[in-house]
Amino acid sequence: MPSELFKKQIVFLPNIAELIRYATRRGARFTEAESYVKDTVFYIRNLHPGINIKSPHREDGGHFNRLAKDMNLFLPKNGQNDHVPPDEIEYDWIVNAHPMWNELGTYWKSLHPLNRWGGDFRNSKGEKVNDFNHFSMEHGGVQ
Ligand SMILES: [Zn+2]
Repeated sequence: MPSELFKKQIVFLPNIAELIRYATRRGARFTEAESYVKDTVFYIRNLHPGINIKSPHREDGGHFNRLAKDMNLFLPKNGQNDHVPPDEIEYDWIVNAHPMWNELGTYWKSLHPLNRWGGDFRNSKGEKVNDFNHFSMEHGGVQ
């Protein structure tokens, strides 16, 4: 009998594929960022130094159980038209709030009721953490 975690893992990655296809149709491009993370200490020290090491699973736990993926978002620079050959398009790296992030987050959440988007996350003080590039599936209260 497959575990609940495994059942989610085999749904999560095809949904990521759907998200990438959707983004591509909308003219956006992704590059790979953090996905599965094995070494908790390395991860926290180097990638998310603000996280309390005693409770690393609060905000980024999904990366430890293969149910979270961070991706870098790129959009064509303003002023480019359809006549630019695909391999000559120049892109802006979208790291801050942007309508495309919201659109992608909304689409991601439409793919499964347990899908979560980092753009919705808040810290313990209730402030938005703007983890826009984080797409995950909730498991055991971890997102
Ligand atoms: Zn993440």
